[in-house]
Amino acid sequence: MKIICIGRNYYEHAKELGNETPKEPVFFMKPDTAISPKGHPFFIPEFSKNVQYEVELVIRINRLGKYIEEKFAHKYYEQIGLGIDFTARDIQQEVKEKGLPWEKAKGFDGSAVISKKYLDKKELELADLNFSLKKNGEMVQSGNTQQMLFKIDQIIAYISQFYTLKIGDLIYTGTPAGVGQVNPGDVLEGFIEEQKMFEVKVR
Ligand code: ZN
Repeated sequence: MKIICIGRNYYEHAKELGNETPKEPVFFMKPDTAISPKGHPFFIPEFSKNVQYEVELVIRINRLGKYIEEKFAHKYYEQIGLGIDFTARDIQQEVKEKGLPWEKAKGFDGSAVISKKYLDKKELELADLNFSLKKNGEMVQSGNTQQMLFKIDQIIAYISQFYTLKIGDLIYTGTPAGVGQVNPGDVLEGFIEEQKMFEVKVR
């Protein structure tokens, strides 16, 4: 399986990092080893002084597809999960300034948290879906799919022009504003609407 992540998909988040809003989806990958073993704590890697959380809705692909038309993209996923795209922001800043790929800042072990459970999209109002992240009990990020610059079906159509999508592939769909640093001892809890999707302890 592969993990594809969309960057700068929420205007307010692009702005908080000083980025322009993109004209087409920006994407990058994480290796499968980035998946954090379910229920395990997140260990801050030694190479970074500023690792940040990014809560994101995650789409699980359930059909093989290439050159998927946007109008058919909805047939390629049923399950929606919630995850964290952990980012070594200091490293990302370095590589961005040099015009180098982001993977070192994005793809390290444990950097892809994914909820144990997935929700059936039929039971959700996908076009108007709220999700959020609490840090130590306090809400730090909240987003709604209406704020996405590129919607899920557009993202799938776009990515599938370049990569064949396979069953089990995960697409992290971008983070809303409010990203911030984690410190040892922090507890992160993710929610879709009122449903708690995950809890991660930071070490
Ligand atoms: Zn992200």
